[in-house]
This record gives sequence, C-alpha cells and structure tokens, in this order.
Amino acid sequence: MLRLTIRALALLVASGIAAPAQDRGTMDPKPLPPLAKPDDPSTPAKELFGRKPTPASLEARAIGYYTGGCLAGGVMLPINGKTWQVMRLSRNRNWGHPNLISFLERLSEKAPKLGWGHGLLVGDMAQPRGGPMLTGHWSHQVGLDADLWMTPMPDRELTRQEREEMMATNVVADDWKDINPKIWKPAHIALLRAAATDKDVERVLVNPAIKKALCRDVKGDRSWLHKVRPVLGHNYHFHIRIGCPPGQDGCKTQPPAPADEGCGKDLDWWFTREAVPKPGPGRPPIRMSALPAACKQVLLAD
Ligand SMILES: [Zn+2]
Repeated sequence: MLRLTIRALALLVASGIAAPAQDRGTMDPKPLPPLAKPDDPSTPAKELFGRKPTPASLEARAIGYYTGGCLAGGVMLPINGKTWQVMRLSRNRNWGHPNLISFLERLSEKAPKLGWGHGLLVGDMAQPRGGPMLTGHWSHQVGLDADLWMTPMPDRELTRQEREEMMATNVVADDWKDINPKIWKPAHIALLRAAATDKDVERVLVNPAIKKALCRDVKGDRSWLHKVRPVLGHNYHFHIRIGCPPGQDGCKTQPPAPADEGCGKDLDWWFTREAVPKPGPGRPPIRMSALPAACKQVLLAD
C-alpha cells in the first residue's frame, strides 16, 4: 500500500503534475568531502564542478552547450542590487557570463516600473565554473541561464535565513490546467514580455499552464510569444536563456525558437496523458569526456 502510494507520487512528481516542493537552502553549508579518485574518468563531472567554489580566472567564455558545457571567467551577480536580491545563497549558483549579469541588471531595473514589486528575486544561475550540478537542472551549465522567482522582490532586504527558507509563489492552479487566477496578475505578463523581448533572450521557459494563460490573455503585440516555451515544472520560477555571446565559437547555439506562437496543438499536447513522462532510470551522469575539452582547463585553472 505504502509502496504504491510512493510510486504514484513519484510518477506525479516526474510528470510535473505535482512538482516536488521547492528545495530549501541551509544556513550552515558543509564543504563536500574530497573525492577519493577525482582523476578517474568515470567520475561524474558534477562531482568535480560542484567542488569548485570560485570561478576560473580566464577570459569570460561560455563553452559548449546549455546542457553540456562549462563557464570560464564566471562573474558573480552581487547578492544585493538596487532592484534584485539573490536567493539560496548557500547554493553558490549566482554566477554567469558577463552578458547574463548585464541582462539581469537590465531586466531588474524594468521590473518595478512594470508593477513587479521592487525588483527581481534571482534563483539559480550557474556554478562559479558552470558545468553539471549535483542537484537539480539539466541545463544552466554555460552561464547563460537564470531562474527568476515568480515572487516580486519586497521593499526590504531579506535576511540570510529568509533567502534559504522562503518559498517562491506557485502561480499554477492545483489541477495544473491553468494559472491560479487569485495569484496571476497583469504584472506577470508584463515581466515575461520584458524578458522575452530583451535583445539577448532566446527562450523563456514556463509551465504549460502559464503558456496557456499567455496565449489567451496577451493582447496587442504577440510577436514575443514564440520565445516562451512550455516545459514541466517552472510554476514557481521561470527560466531565461540568453544566446551565445557573439564571436564565441566554442559556445554552441540552440536552434531558434519556432516562429509559430506555439498556442495550438503543440500546447494542447502538454495537457494530455502522453505528456506524462514514463518512469525510467533517468539520464546517466555526464562525464568529463562528454564535455568540450576546454572544460578540463576550466576545471584546472586557478
Ligand atoms: Zn532553470
């Protein structure tokens, strides 16, 4: 009986129908124990990149692909800006390519003018040297991805504890079929529009229920809707992905978002049984040999 319940729950969680509760951070982060054989080629790359608390002092470069790469010369987003605050400081994931930092500063400045509180609450960006992470995220590896909370920044500096323990706002209804009308506000649309129309942004990832609401509610200019793509989860935060910095050959670009608004059959599919992922063994961890060779230098650099 209990086993069945857990299996059923696991299936729901995997499907994003019942996304897992958000992870809290900790006020007392413990350093990871050293690896017995860090040079063993079978060592998952996340174990290596997850143990680097500082950036590689190299010229800033996004190396590889969003889901298989690393970051040279990572820049830290300061934990407090005039119009942003970084959450979950214990995760040390407020790092990115300088272009990502500039984008976040740019968007955060607009946020209060759009009715989005006093600015942005910033969730995970990348690790100091990018790369795969020990927990969460398949992408966020090259310093060009950022998660922004669906909660506006309040009119005060959050305490260290609040930043670890506060929960972001779920904007999706309990049945996962639409947004929660008690929470969803015009400011959500305004912020998503500002993000999607930024010159550097290629994709904004949101829960299918949010995409559905945008398809229904966005009036006037809809030319940015195609950049907002449905994915599972993403009901507490939305994910922003900027393009490869110009001239960086080692950064692999993603195919452009389809020109179509994405409000038709493709979106309907997300609300069918077929969209529920089948339980499986999950993806095997990425090894260093699967990352661009330059990531080895990033890992070993001072
Ligand atoms: Zn994300």
